[in-house]
Amino acid sequence: MQHETVIVLDFGGQYNQLIARRVRENNVYCEIYSYKTDLSVIKAKNPKGIIFTGGPNSVYLEDSPTIDPEIFNWGIPVLGICYGSQLMMHLLGGHVCRAPEREYGKTEVFVDNSSKMFEDVQPSTICWMSHNDYIEQAAPGFKITAHTVNCPVAAAENAEKGLYAVQFHPEVLHTAEGKKMLRNFVYNVCGCSGDWKMDSFVENNVKALRERIGDGKVLCALSGGVDSSVLAAMLAKAIGKQLTCVFVDHGLLRKNEKEEVCSVFGPGNANGFDINFICVDARDRYFSKLAGVTEPERKRKIIGEEFIRVFEEQAKLIGKVDFLAQGTIYPDVVESGLGGESTVIKSHHNVGGLPDTVDFKELVEPLRNLFKDEVRQVGRELGLPEYLVSRQPFPGPGLGIRIIGEVTPEKVAIVQDADAIWREEIAKAGLDKEINQYYAALTNMRSVGVMGDERTYDYAVALRAVTTTDFMTAESYNVPWDVLGTVTSRIVNEVKHVNRVFYDCTGKPPATIELE
Ligand code: GLN
Repeated sequence: MQHETVIVLDFGGQYNQLIARRVRENNVYCEIYSYKTDLSVIKAKNPKGIIFTGGPNSVYLEDSPTIDPEIFNWGIPVLGICYGSQLMMHLLGGHVCRAPEREYGKTEVFVDNSSKMFEDVQPSTICWMSHNDYIEQAAPGFKITAHTVNCPVAAAENAEKGLYAVQFHPEVLHTAEGKKMLRNFVYNVCGCSGDWKMDSFVENNVKALRERIGDGKVLCALSGGVDSSVLAAMLAKAIGKQLTCVFVDHGLLRKNEKEEVCSVFGPGNANGFDINFICVDARDRYFSKLAGVTEPERKRKIIGEEFIRVFEEQAKLIGKVDFLAQGTIYPDVVESGLGGESTVIKSHHNVGGLPDTVDFKELVEPLRNLFKDEVRQVGRELGLPEYLVSRQPFPGPGLGIRIIGEVTPEKVAIVQDADAIWREEIAKAGLDKEINQYYAALTNMRSVGVMGDERTYDYAVALRAVTTTDFMTAESYNVPWDVLGTVTSRIVNEVKHVNRVFYDCTGKPPATIELE
């Protein structure tokens, strides 16, 4: 089905995905393309509107990203954000130069409410600024619709031509009324009706999957994470027994994770999923491969490769399948350099990393266009339990990279138990919705302690909890001291071989969210 589409043209801004997410939160489908994309491709998408992102360059310098100004004559509304706004002005005859006063952070902006962009917005509203250059003079035919103390043109528009420019970032949550402004753009200016909804997504895609797969067989690697669980549930609904899910217990799962996955997808599950479900116990294989290995990248590699081996063996037992299902989601696609302007940040295991020796005809990736929040919403529509749907990210190599140094079954058991206590107490304190990722890890450090008048020489557990919007940067969460106290005493009392608990106060950067 063809949805109304808004296109984000990426000029290298750090918030490109955020813009698309905000548009979609307003029930309008949105895709990201690089500014270098051939304009005929963009035009062929028949977009209702186009949004130019911010970017690190200066429009007046040679070699800065630019675009064929013909785009402004298409009769399709364009919204330029920050670099995008400067570019629009620059190309249409305005003047952009180094600002005498750079603006960074929350800034008071005075807006003209007669603009369609600012309908129902407070006349003085807080917006997020991040710029060194500014629009000194708007292009001819443009009306200035907002300013700040330091910035004469914080917004401008040529309403007749549907061209809008904002110096601030409406997509960032620090812009108090940003969501409303983007809503105004897609509804008031672009005339969208809001046809992007998750219940119809499920319905349409289940139908489309049935048509595409016919009576073919589909193989799916289930990790228990949100994406693969939602993928499996969607396929289960579409094709039932034609689906085989393989779940590999590599021994590096969180406590009770295997049981939870089996109870949702395994035989006799309460969700009515009637599929072939295979749970492989590969714990011993993994532990023997990992014995004596301490180097983080090496550990990751072994865990990844072994997964492929196990999966291939299972695939062989099943014989020829027609489709391989993967839980690729939109950020994976964008970050792999396939959409937008961002260079390859990491190659995703989901994008082109699976076994090429598995014998299948085609890939099915029904979640490929969805953001994480949308995947979770689809999971809810499909009736998956909330604990699965709202599960925090868990790395592919599992607890293997939350144990510094050699991985052994004993160390895994320590991490599992400590982590379960940490998660339980965070939920009890009502912090689980506020913290984006939290886990316990095992430092490879042992130290002296005293317990029951006896000397101990045991491990130190590290607790981590971070908030983040995009997992690219993160801050350590300020966990109340009494919660940390409770968790610490529970861990040293309930988990054998732990006599010390540390809290990781480091943000990202300089640290990463995971330890290895
Ligand atoms: N580089 C431009 C400036 O400094 C645009 C910045 C941006 O898009 N955030 O003004």
